[in-house]
Amino acid sequence: LQSKLPALGTTIFSQMSQLAAEHQAINLSQGFPDFPSNPRLIELLSEAARSGLNQYAPMPGVLALRQQIAALVQSCYQRQLCAEQQITVSSGATEALFVAIQALVRPGDEVIVFDPAYDSYQPAVELAGGFTVHVPLLPPLYQVDWAQLEKQISKKTRLIIVNSPHNPTGAVFSHQDWLSLQALVLKHRLYCISDEVYEHLVFDGQPQLSANQYPELAERSYIVSSFGKTFHVTGWKLGYAVASAELTAEFRKIHQYVTFSSFTPAQHAITQLLAEQPEEVKRLAAFYQLKRDQFRLGLAGSAWSLLPCRGSYFQLADYSAFSDLDDVAFCQWLTREHKVAAIPLSVFYRQAPSQRIIRFCFAKEPETLARATEILCQLS
Ligand code: PMP
Ligand code: GLN
Repeated sequence: LQSKLPALGTTIFSQMSQLAAEHQAINLSQGFPDFPSNPRLIELLSEAARSGLNQYAPMPGVLALRQQIAALVQSCYQRQLCAEQQITVSSGATEALFVAIQALVRPGDEVIVFDPAYDSYQPAVELAGGFTVHVPLLPPLYQVDWAQLEKQISKKTRLIIVNSPHNPTGAVFSHQDWLSLQALVLKHRLYCISDEVYEHLVFDGQPQLSANQYPELAERSYIVSSFGKTFHVTGWKLGYAVASAELTAEFRKIHQYVTFSSFTPAQHAITQLLAEQPEEVKRLAAFYQLKRDQFRLGLAGSAWSLLPCRGSYFQLADYSAFSDLDDVAFCQWLTREHKVAAIPLSVFYRQAPSQRIIRFCFAKEPETLARATEILCQLS
């Protein structure tokens, strides 16, 4: 078989989680919580299944869930959405991103992504026959140089994919970033996919901003989020895409043949939880900020140099003060020899600069973070 994705292997997340399991290492690599979800959510899931809600959900998602999503978007971003025509429930953000990319990208189209970027965008663009154009984020805050980005826009550019809060760097767009993005999208008649799976995880009192708040941008965007992140249930693979009625109709043409519909009992459980505890998501930022602070404090005074983390549940750390290994070799060594797993930053780049930085996930119990930081401090 001639591979359609010849350069691609198995994702770094599978590789590192497997290595962590083999070596019984503390797994701060793949991004998922090691603590339980809200017990009420688990009760609601089993109630849904026991009460017989086990057959196909409607193709666009359970309507009551879409209404709850509309209420959430209204409450966070004051955008009024039509639940019937503008919201589609997906099997995780991953499916929504894939479907949105297939809906927009035609053979030969160029798609702007950041360098570094989450790893699922590029293969989806290539399967649609498009090409990614990588625009570097500028450390240490991993900011976008919008003037530089505009120079990369050509007649073939169709789409820009943004992600704030950003995986893997923890960077967060400012109001000015969103305005610059909106201006470019309008000026060049681009489309936008805004990956907002960490939307509720912004720290230090920064405002929680979204493409939903910029009407002219929102009109040309698919805005994607994930209940896996928001309710600590990454294994449920439930997310959604918000878009104009026109973009939503195109999205559903593809979604109906990728998966048709998503896991029914979870849709009902999350509907009910959002109805019972609508304020719960507003506590997420403070909850994760404590974890970030514990992790950073645990490494304070060590030879690790920590980059800023303004959102998401990832912390970048520079180890160049005490090792010359490249980041892939370093992560393997750290997992095997010291039983802490992390992700090398270079895998998120098309053209990684020469640097020694890795990504830790701090969505972990305080004891897990304490054990990990104790080990990591001894290294340096
Ligand atoms: N986008 C980003 C930036 C992510 O970090 C992740 C998950 N780690 C996803 C999308 C996929 O989300 P889901 O698990 O809901 O498919
Ligand atoms: N998004 C998660 C991360 O960045 C992993 C998702 C996956 O394993 N595909 O770690």
